[in-house]
Amino acid sequence: MNQWIEIVYVVASVMFILGIKMMGNADTARKGNLLSAWAMLLAVVVTLWNQEVISFGWIAVGIFIGAVIGVVAAKRVALTEMPELVALFNGFGGLASLLVGWAEVKSTGNLTSLASISILLTVWIGSVTFIGSKVAYLKLSGKMPGRSIAFPGMKWLNIFIALAIIASGVIWMTMGIGIAFYITLGLALILGFLAVIPIGGGDMPVVISLLNSCSGLAACAAGFVIVNNVLIVAGCLVGTSGLILTVIMCKAMNRTLSNVLFGGFSVASSKTGAIVEGEMKGITPEDAYYVLEAAQQVVVVPGYGMAVAQAQHAAKELGEILEANGTEVRYCIHPVAGRMPGHMNVLLAEADVPYEQLHEMDDVNPTMEMVDVAIVIGANDVVNPSAADDETSPIYGMPIINTHEAKTVFVLKRGKGAGFSGLENSLFFRENTRMIYGDAKATLTALIAAFKG
Ligand code: NDP
Repeated sequence: MNQWIEIVYVVASVMFILGIKMMGNADTARKGNLLSAWAMLLAVVVTLWNQEVISFGWIAVGIFIGAVIGVVAAKRVALTEMPELVALFNGFGGLASLLVGWAEVKSTGNLTSLASISILLTVWIGSVTFIGSKVAYLKLSGKMPGRSIAFPGMKWLNIFIALAIIASGVIWMTMGIGIAFYITLGLALILGFLAVIPIGGGDMPVVISLLNSCSGLAACAAGFVIVNNVLIVAGCLVGTSGLILTVIMCKAMNRTLSNVLFGGFSVASSKTGAIVEGEMKGITPEDAYYVLEAAQQVVVVPGYGMAVAQAQHAAKELGEILEANGTEVRYCIHPVAGRMPGHMNVLLAEADVPYEQLHEMDDVNPTMEMVDVAIVIGANDVVNPSAADDETSPIYGMPIINTHEAKTVFVLKRGKGAGFSGLENSLFFRENTRMIYGDAKATLTALIAAFKG
């Protein structure tokens, strides 16, 4: 029987890998997600055959409660609240691994060295992921200040706690003193809290991605604890893919991971950026229509405001109208636009914008000077030229979409509100920029109406 279980685990692992590969392309992403979900069901069901599973009843109860929470949360959450949900789910992943390690300590008498090390890793990473993700959730949902909270000597305190965690873990492992295990557990929870509170502002997406990776590593360690191959493979997949995403996001923000974790622009940065002078010039949708009507090349740059306004369908309709008018339309997506990785891709895919029209900034930027109109829909930080030309700006060095190089820029936003970083955007004051104030969906609808006459 055990041999069959292992074979099914291998099949489930292959399905996970194929599923993740399919998620790399918008056309196959939905199928990839479904394939991975089937793989997970297969892995859970086949685990029930395992003779060592003590209570099938409890597992059934767990599946039921988990499914109800998952369905209700997925149905109720607004797309703009997705990062909070991801942070919450990461935390539960860490908690589950932590409980597996803890339960093994309670239920097993003589542990081998490998088992003890695996348990310690599970408890350490699981605890830090659990509390760290909860803090990230509270920050993103506004239930706790989103800015950096730090005090002098914090780094040293964290280093001291990390060393104390290792010491108490080694004492538990070598001397079998039970209380040392609980000290390890408690200190790891405190470290999770202290590690995430100093991170704030624009760095939160990177931290969420890193915590996602940690939840995978904790699951992988838990797999070693209960000797479960599929858990090890699935944990490794989540751990590595989360880490790759973290590196990509760091590059997109021109930051190093250590800079994000141990102090960067959101952590009490003294830089404030140059004072932007001039005035923002407004234009009505009716006047903007005449410029768009004559445009040969248009680039659409979506941002968080498009998600707030739910303007993706209107954006697609305007794009179709422009194309019918003979204009070449491209959508340019910044890696950290919106509030979660792939946020804009998800919205535009939902509106059925053809995949070939979605472009990365490195492809569009070199051609920007030939673009007649750049339409910025609710984006702000990702098009802020200060990142390129103001060395005193806190976001200096962050790669941006160079819309300021286009012949004309239309910025669709409600008012003078700042972006996520809280910084003024010099793009809005440029000679070639015109602001079209109002909710992005209403503005796009007005532009569509102007085209339809
Ligand atoms: P920003 O947050 O910089 O700006 C969004 C803009 O949208 C605001 O200036 C706001 O201006 C406007 N807006 C809001 N609602 C509407 C509406 N209904 N209609 C029209 N406009 C609206 O967005 P970006 O996408 O440019 O940048 C993302 C930022 O978020 C980056 O700093 C990034 O680091 C950060 N971040 C990214 C995450 C990710 O994973 N992608 C996660 C967390 C943070 P106004 O109020 O005047 O309308």
